[in-house]
Amino acid sequence: MSHDPSCLFCKIVAGQIPSRKAYEDEEILVFHDIHPWAPVHLLIIPKLHIATLADISEEQHAALLGRMTALAPRLMREAAVTNGFRTVINCGADGGQEVYHLHMHVMGGPRPWAKG
Ligand code: 5GP
Ligand code: ZN
Repeated sequence: MSHDPSCLFCKIVAGQIPSRKAYEDEEILVFHDIHPWAPVHLLIIPKLHIATLADISEEQHAALLGRMTALAPRLMREAAVTNGFRTVINCGADGGQEVYHLHMHVMGGPRPWAKG
């Protein structure tokens, strides 16, 4: 399924739910987390609906994941984060995933942070 009409992040991709966007291209959207843990807290998502990191296939999605990861340092630089950042992908129930549309958290900015 490329799009799940009941999925929160698919609704954000479709513009049905507003978000504060930081970056967008044909296959990736980046927006600010609604409950940030850090001064800058971005979510990098594929526009394609992939529920979790456990659902990717190496053949099909390696390039997409590579692009998502490669965007992180660039977006942190653009957000004036210069002293390091953290990337997190929560996967499944025991991984603490709450929204079942693959996303990479990218958090940075001066500490203390709200969490972590
Ligand atoms: P997870 O726990 O699944 O790794 O992270 C989901 C993240 O999505 C949480 O950090 C949460 O704050 C964020 N989030 C949930 N709903 C919304 C929303 O409607 N808009 C935005 N921008 N972020 C959301
Ligand atoms: Zn989705």
